[in-house]
Amino acid sequence: MFYFWRRALVFPFTLLLISLLLWAVAGALPAVLFFGIFLLVRLLFHLHQLALLENWLADPETRPVPDGAGLWEGVFARLNRMMRLQRKEHEQHTAALQHLQQATSALPEGVVILDGADHIEWCNPLAEQHFGLDGVRDIGQQITYMARQPEFVQYLTMHDFSEPLVLRGARKDGPTLSIKLVPYSDHKKLLISRDITSFERIETMRRDFVANVSHELRTPLTVVNGFVETLCDMPSLENDMARRALRMMGEQTQRMEHLVGDLLTLSKLDNALNALQEGIVEVPALLRALYQEGNSLSGGRHSLRLELESNCNLLGNAEELRSAFGNLVSNAIRYTPQGGEIVLRWQEQDGQPAFSVQDSGLGIAPQHIPRLTERFYRVDHSRSRETGGTGLGLAIVKHVANRHQARLEIASEEGKGSIFSIMFPPKRRLPLA
Ligand code: ADP
Repeated sequence: MFYFWRRALVFPFTLLLISLLLWAVAGALPAVLFFGIFLLVRLLFHLHQLALLENWLADPETRPVPDGAGLWEGVFARLNRMMRLQRKEHEQHTAALQHLQQATSALPEGVVILDGADHIEWCNPLAEQHFGLDGVRDIGQQITYMARQPEFVQYLTMHDFSEPLVLRGARKDGPTLSIKLVPYSDHKKLLISRDITSFERIETMRRDFVANVSHELRTPLTVVNGFVETLCDMPSLENDMARRALRMMGEQTQRMEHLVGDLLTLSKLDNALNALQEGIVEVPALLRALYQEGNSLSGGRHSLRLELESNCNLLGNAEELRSAFGNLVSNAIRYTPQGGEIVLRWQEQDGQPAFSVQDSGLGIAPQHIPRLTERFYRVDHSRSRETGGTGLGLAIVKHVANRHQARLEIASEEGKGSIFSIMFPPKRRLPLA
């Protein structure tokens, strides 16, 4: 600062001194003239430097900073230093951004950045492939112009992105995608897509294999069971041991038949191509029938009660719902000791139709509850077998519930009993005609 003022004041003082000397030697007029002319020259010099600055400011990115003269030399030198620093920082940022883009491009998943109104801000090459985008041309486009499937559009408008969406054939001959939306700052969203075509193929192979094996086993099992039953009923069979062996064979083949039947049911429910065939399901009538069946299954060992607190019907698949409700009733009977109470209840909770089975049976320890709907998961293997369980009942219930957009809720206390409830969405409720 001191250096600046020293340089800045040298000229006016020198001019003033010379003008005063001239005044003393040659009089006032030459002195004023001399002072005025030099002041004008100085003014023109500064205007010229300002013009240089103004010219440079018009395009500072491409034009070099002028050299400047006099006091302006220091100013321009500082500007030059600032520009060099700024360019260096810009280059560093660009390199970091490129690095980040390269890393995102190498991701095994497609990534699209969407703004608050679902316009594309950026996408990586894999996302270009998945959605048929052009990473330059389509920037700023609404994503729903590029991926128009109704389920995708609906997923975008949802506020719950906890579950990924499986999108089949996003393009003709396109891959099957698993899509997940991750909202982040300022209402922006990260759209992450994964190609699950090969995973789906393996899943289909697994499903087909289980379905085919079950189907192939069904006929021989029926034949064997038929013969065993005939042999058991033969009056000429006198040997006790043979009769016992045949009875055991009969029990085991029946168990296998149930297992094969449950596997086939699960395969059908699991098949994505098997869309839900919906109709009016008269739930009160269905529950009356299940109550009767439950009573005969219990054989008088339990006290069964049917509580129809609602008389509404459901929009759904009668066969599937019968199988799910029936599994819950049969479980309650099988896992409740003699003398226990079982209540079948049909009610509405906050507009949601709900079917529940409450029992005063064995109950389930909390650590088992999250795993009960896994295939072949059993709390007590021997009890499940003894009572003819296949280990697939609750898996079937969960699949049926999912297909009806319903929720399976389990509340249980060991030694006290359990409540298994299926909560249906209000849109499935059908009031009586
Ligand atoms: P399973 O054919 O073995 O009954 P499920 O899938 O129907 O198979 O049930 C899984 C397991 O959950 C059962 O093995 C049993 O341990 C437990 N379970 C199901 N329902 C009840 C219930 N009402 N009370 C106690 N435990 C139950």
